[in-house]
Amino acid sequence: MSYETLAADSSRPGEPTAILEDYERACGTFDWDETRRALGRPPAGGLNMAHAAVDRWVVNGLGNRIAMRFISRQWERRNYSYAALSGQASRFANVLDGLGVAAGDRVFTLAGRIPELYVTLFGALKFGAVYSPLFSAFGPEPVAARLEIGGGRVLVTTTSLYRRKVLPVRNRLPALEHVLLVDASGAELPPGTRSFPELMRAAADTWRIPPTDPEALALLHFTSGTTGKPKGAMHAHEAVVAHYATGRYALDLHPGDVYWCTADPGWVTGISYGAIAPLANGVTMIIDEEEFDAARWYRILAEERVNVWYTAPTAIRMLMKQGKELAAAHHYDRLRHLASVGEPLNPEGVVWGKEVFGRPFHDTWWQTETGAIMIANFRGAEVRPGSMGRPVPGIEAAIVRVRRDDEGNPVAAEPVTTPDTEGELALQPGWPSMFRGYLGNEARYRRSFADGWYLSGDMAKRDGDGWYWFVGRADDVIKSAGHLISPFEVESVLLEHPAVAEAGVIGLPDPVAGEVVKAYVELKPGHAGGDELALQLIGFARKRLGAALAPRSIAFSSQLPRTRSGKIMRRLLRARELGLPEGDTSTLEQGK
Ligand code: ATP
Ligand code: MG
Repeated sequence: MSYETLAADSSRPGEPTAILEDYERACGTFDWDETRRALGRPPAGGLNMAHAAVDRWVVNGLGNRIAMRFISRQWERRNYSYAALSGQASRFANVLDGLGVAAGDRVFTLAGRIPELYVTLFGALKFGAVYSPLFSAFGPEPVAARLEIGGGRVLVTTTSLYRRKVLPVRNRLPALEHVLLVDASGAELPPGTRSFPELMRAAADTWRIPPTDPEALALLHFTSGTTGKPKGAMHAHEAVVAHYATGRYALDLHPGDVYWCTADPGWVTGISYGAIAPLANGVTMIIDEEEFDAARWYRILAEERVNVWYTAPTAIRMLMKQGKELAAAHHYDRLRHLASVGEPLNPEGVVWGKEVFGRPFHDTWWQTETGAIMIANFRGAEVRPGSMGRPVPGIEAAIVRVRRDDEGNPVAAEPVTTPDTEGELALQPGWPSMFRGYLGNEARYRRSFADGWYLSGDMAKRDGDGWYWFVGRADDVIKSAGHLISPFEVESVLLEHPAVAEAGVIGLPDPVAGEVVKAYVELKPGHAGGDELALQLIGFARKRLGAALAPRSIAFSSQLPRTRSGKIMRRLLRARELGLPEGDTSTLEQGK
């Protein structure tokens, strides 16, 4: 693709320099133990995520710093200092104790972006329970499935969510003993529930964190379900070491920064980088209760003086769709670093950041399983649009060729050394936030490893300078007439066309070529689909990609099927096209 490398951002007057300025040196000197020590130890010993993220700032005399700033739908702002969050979390740990909950029990939330969610998260961690978030837009089935797999004992939610999503399935959940409602008390409580605020008021705001084994489980995160049934990935307290390190290196978080992660806390990004990593780095997080709204987002970035912004390609494309004019209503002179995760970030999006905010978006790659950012474009380094960047210091990545047996189990993985060769993206196990298993599915966990490598299931290439380029999920890569076609590459080219807002590309069986490329396209406002535009788009793609890679056919769609975390579900496009079963659709955004 014809995008030029962008030089590293230079610091503006008054801005701190990049934490990671010299990549090679940082990789050479990085040491996980040193990072671990920087996080301190709770008085009783061990390593506790909530201590590392919240309490240690209070111990260090910085308890008055704002940890979280909530913006309600009506734009009321509410601040929580580190000390206040620590005190509330201690209260919640006491509540759990009073309920007879045991260490290792699972505590869930089903809620939007409300303060109680973060209090529950850190309270559960202080107590020694395992925390698991449920996305508030889930219906009763996905809620029940996850509570069942996770054996949830405590659930914190709202009255309305309880009535609509939990009550219909509660009799299927014998393990669920305690349902705490954040917005009800006394006589208004539905049967079988208790009042979160009442319990909190009655509890003490001090709690001594018990000695926590760094290997003790802390978080249970379900994957997005893009490629199939969501899997429950388990993470240990030690993951905070990677959250902290990657918050510094990949997001360039400096203590005192104002930081905004737009991911919902129902997903791993909204917890790893919407709560733990930022607080472990002493920043002030912005938490907006409202859903995506372009004008509102620009206002938040400007008025809240956001320094570091972590968002997703789907949001970036939605902003792009609405045009640059909307962004021009504000100045973003505090915005220092823009990063993205969740899906491939098209070069078009990287460059758009530079045009609108004066800074490019920096792509980062990771998964629920990796628990933290593994590959990134760093603020202190050049950006190669379309590349995911380079491994974070402390992480060893490789492109491997995997040999599988007849049942699809990997039996051998061999690193590929020739640059620009496609293969599976693999990581050397042992980093602190690596998942410790899939809950209830040990066999699936074992299938993720071969020859000492963790196999990500994503196909990628590494160029001669060590930069990684996403090709596609192993399940999505298209094999046509002897070529391996990257859906991402085709989608990125289509996105360069002025009429195209979103594109999803799949392979369809073909007797001659094996598979041929079909593209589903969502148009920008003011454009209408039709044969003429379809031919134009095919021609446009051919010119850039050649006939072998360009789509053979184009379908216009008013909305592509996406997961609730914003990822295009190519497997659904394929299933619908071929009339195959749709499989697990629990994470499909409604009405798509
Ligand atoms: P499931 O595993 O249930 O199919 P999922 O893989 O979408 O769902 P997540 O763990 O939320 O669940 O997402 C991780 C995946 O998202 C990665 O494996 C990769 O396919 C994709 N991804 C994340 N970041 C990037 C990126 N920067 N570029 C390309 N793909 C990315
Ligand atoms: Mg996955």
